[in-house]
Amino acid sequence: LILEEDEMIDFVSTDQDTPALSQAELKKQSMQEVRRSLPIFPYREDLLAAIHEHQILVIEGETGSGKTTQIPQYLLEDGYTKGGMKIGCTQPRRVAAMSVAARVAEEMSVKLGNEVGYSIRFEDCTSERTVLKYMTDGMLLREFLTEPDLASYSVIIIDEAHERTLHTDILFGLIKDIARFRSDLKVLVASATLDTERFSCFFDDAPVFRIPGRRFPVDIYYTKNKIYCYKEQVLIMHPSSCCTFVLQEEIEACCELLQERCRRLGSKIAELLVLPIYANLPSDMQAKIFNPTPPGARKVVVATNIAETSLTIDGIIYVIDPGFCKQKSYNARTGMESLIVTPCSRASANQRAGRAGRVAAGKCFRLYTAWAFKHEMEETTVPEIQRTNLGNVVLLLKSLGINDLIHFDFMDPPPHETLVLALEQLYALGALNHLGELTKLGRRMAELPVDPMLSKMILASEQYKCSEEVLTIAAMLSVNNSIFYRPKDKVVHADNARMNFVVPGGDHLVLLNVYTQWVESGYSTQWCYENFIQFRSMRRARDVRDQLEGLMDRIEVEVVSSQGDNIPIRKAVTAGYFYHTARLSKGGYKTVKHQQTVYVHPNSSLFEEQPRWLIYHELVFTTKEFMRQVIEIESGWLLEVAPHYYKSKELEDSSSKKMPRKQGKTKEELG
Ligand code: ADP
Ligand code: MG
Repeated sequence: LILEEDEMIDFVSTDQDTPALSQAELKKQSMQEVRRSLPIFPYREDLLAAIHEHQILVIEGETGSGKTTQIPQYLLEDGYTKGGMKIGCTQPRRVAAMSVAARVAEEMSVKLGNEVGYSIRFEDCTSERTVLKYMTDGMLLREFLTEPDLASYSVIIIDEAHERTLHTDILFGLIKDIARFRSDLKVLVASATLDTERFSCFFDDAPVFRIPGRRFPVDIYYTKNKIYCYKEQVLIMHPSSCCTFVLQEEIEACCELLQERCRRLGSKIAELLVLPIYANLPSDMQAKIFNPTPPGARKVVVATNIAETSLTIDGIIYVIDPGFCKQKSYNARTGMESLIVTPCSRASANQRAGRAGRVAAGKCFRLYTAWAFKHEMEETTVPEIQRTNLGNVVLLLKSLGINDLIHFDFMDPPPHETLVLALEQLYALGALNHLGELTKLGRRMAELPVDPMLSKMILASEQYKCSEEVLTIAAMLSVNNSIFYRPKDKVVHADNARMNFVVPGGDHLVLLNVYTQWVESGYSTQWCYENFIQFRSMRRARDVRDQLEGLMDRIEVEVVSSQGDNIPIRKAVTAGYFYHTARLSKGGYKTVKHQQTVYVHPNSSLFEEQPRWLIYHELVFTTKEFMRQVIEIESGWLLEVAPHYYKSKELEDSSSKKMPRKQGKTKEELG
């Protein structure tokens, strides 16, 4: 790719002849040059003056202008951390919090975790010395539990505000409230160029500080006809220095295919670096996408919408946008939450396209028609608060003593029925009493940084004397379906290996079995490799488990084992997830409360078995409503664990005999 001279303004030459400087000094010097070259830099003084003058300021700037990495440093340089006060900066995504903190630590030449650190769920990389703290919005929310006025912070930056995640929206209300009596606290609401008037309006007409971006023109191309297999298209596009947006579960496959094609083309094409980036990618791999591309080579980044605004990868010239995203959606009537692949919004599509025009004129290939863009996509994404289960935040707000949730200061209120359902569910779980007040159980549940059903399951393990096993299951469930590795060229081996872990009772017990065997192997990498298990996921499960186990003391749960008896374990799961019960009836499974048709996921160990009653961990909608991670239960347990929720009449025909196995349904048929 050849750039015009005048397009090179953003590039910084680092190969000047300065032999007297060491490698590290050179790097530092060039980093300082990069800092000065960012669009925000000329506005440093004005910005600091505006912050000085106003308690709450909305900051709008193009992605990549330096908001996230620079503003906290400017504040630090301006004295906002005097006396050990902290500057907190929230990010909706874990990866962004980690990666940005790492970048800033590097710019400041300090060790990550010292002056600059990050805090994400199950991972705290901060210390006594930390003054610049990047964290997920969810973590700051939890900090309210221990420090309701955020007294140790001088500045809170709510970054990526336009993402409108559930936690960010709740933070808006809470922070607006504490700002009233903490006049010394500065609040900055930073956002890409979207929606900033609304933020200003919500924060009592706070001024908006605009950082003009540098944007090069991006040519947009649409397809002529509708595309049914966009993955193929992404490959055919034959990209260079390109960023393509696909769904997380497709990333590895997409990368493999790209690499395979490059191998086949051999020396006919220049070297192509294929790099993935997504939320659960381990940090050493994440760092790779930021490395400069060697001369002559090209880089293609295969990303989820994490690269839409949270992370900026320099030098992207082409963007390929299939036009989809994965979105949570919530049915407040049935209480069903599902992840659905849907067309992204026009605002998202434009953000994606914008990634191509940062360093030079670029091109964006949209794998959909201009008509679809205009007629099938929504203008903006619906805020998460309006399409998610609120159980978690309601429990948290209740723990903060906020009882009247109907009148909470929401920027966009959640649907009334969602709020009511959350209260009902917490009541059914025993976290609230009939007056809607937090119970002792509820208080203990709120101590755990997991969803109410999962925390109830963990707390129930105390009664059933199986906390050892349940902690493992909770940890394994929270690493999210990335335990088993299934490479394309070894599908049969991988599936056999997986079969070897199957034990009766269901997927939760299979996960427990995997973990137990891994522990017996001495946490071996080799063992994972031989058994087609993802070592990284296991390591993460171990971290999560350690963290949870560390919290058991606080909520006074003794860690004991059920000694091989799996009934207590399944009862504990039932105690947390009784909402998620499905019953086998003619032709398939139906949820007990709402008679919705659901299917066992083909990857499940119970796919063929078809027990009469089961509980699912989550529901995902792909081609159908699939239950993922299911466990077999007896209907009588439902009355035992949730007598106020289930009536025995509903559970009639409760024999645990199995129905005759149905015939002829293949995995393929079920998608
Ligand atoms: P904004 O928050 O306004 O979108 P950032 O502060 O995240 O902008 O990014 C500013 C610049 O910092 C980017 O253009 C990029 O060059 C650089 N940068 C950010 N994160 C990293 C990283 N992890 N590695 C290398 N460069 C980075
Ligand atoms: Mg940013």
